[in-house]
Amino acid sequence: MFNAILVEKDEQGYRARHTRLDEAQLPAGDVQIDVAYSTLNYKDGLAITGKGPVVRTFPLVPGIDLAGIVTHSDHSAFKAGDAVLLNGWGVGEKHWGGLAQKARLNGDWLIPLPTGLTARQAMAIGTAGYTAMLALLALEKNGVTPAGGKVLVTGANGGVGSFAIAFLSRLGYEVTASTGRQEEAEHLRQLGAAEVIDRAQLSAPGRPLGKEQWAAAIDSVGSHTLANVCAGLRYQGTVAACGLAQGMDLPASVAPFILRGVTLAGVDSVMRPVADRLIAWQRIAALVDDGLLNSISREIGLGEVIATAGALLDGKVRGRIVVDVNR
Ligand code: NDP
Repeated sequence: MFNAILVEKDEQGYRARHTRLDEAQLPAGDVQIDVAYSTLNYKDGLAITGKGPVVRTFPLVPGIDLAGIVTHSDHSAFKAGDAVLLNGWGVGEKHWGGLAQKARLNGDWLIPLPTGLTARQAMAIGTAGYTAMLALLALEKNGVTPAGGKVLVTGANGGVGSFAIAFLSRLGYEVTASTGRQEEAEHLRQLGAAEVIDRAQLSAPGRPLGKEQWAAAIDSVGSHTLANVCAGLRYQGTVAACGLAQGMDLPASVAPFILRGVTLAGVDSVMRPVADRLIAWQRIAALVDDGLLNSISREIGLGEVIATAGALLDGKVRGRIVVDVNR
């Protein structure tokens, strides 16, 4: 038997509970893992509360991220005792995920725990930090460098935004952070933001082209914010778009693209090929330390997950939540 969060949907409605499951209930897969840590992402909040159509099969153990130790493997790349990491691939949506003491998965989705990181550190980073790094790599691919000028990060106090600020600043970029929580401005400066602006400047419908302000941007907000970011980029600027915290719409014009040569680079973390994951995690491992991770994340036990998921969707959580599934 093992402890897990289980999401069910039937005639009694949609609900999540902290429960005990039998190993025989684990789904098919060629690798079994003793999970050490998982995390709570925005998507996990939606899965646990049922506030978004994330879960595609019931019952389901949520949790899109996990780190742990392989206990059994029929996959050629992994053996018992290996420390592994998983982000995405529909785990926690279509396949049972990391918010449990045990998981059984397709080994093709796993990567070795990056050298230099513990399981807990990897989960403090989680999909949010990994996505922030993919966004940074997208900027680099488009020729963005620290010498090019200021980089804007939207959704600054969120998981993706916090890591985007820290990574950019540690690489020498001058970062502008956009947030709705001015009371956290000092925290954002400590992460590395040189300037903090109110997100209200970007969230309302704007003009097709604005003042050229930023050389590049990492946007986890979407909607009018992304439209205004495109309109405020400098000539040949790039924005890496990875989120929809304000909305999935994009009420923009083509003016920034055809008059300023702006690039809109899309970022997906879920189905990203393993080769890209290895590069992203290697870059992350070289940039983080305990001081940074402790300032961005806090730890909870499995029993606190359901209540915290609600708070996360209410915008009451700053940064990242690490889940110790064994307490
Ligand atoms: P969080 O909930 O941690 O952060 C989102 C942040 O966005 C908030 O902290 C807030 O920042 C800002 N925000 C929230 N609501 C609004 C609003 N109405 N208007 C403007 N800003 C808002 O989420 P994550 O950082 O984990 O994820 C951010 C987004 O990226 C989500 O939409 C998520 O689904 C997406 N995502 C996409 C991935 C991919 O593969 N493409 C992977 C991971 C996440 P502040 O308080 O500073 O204003």
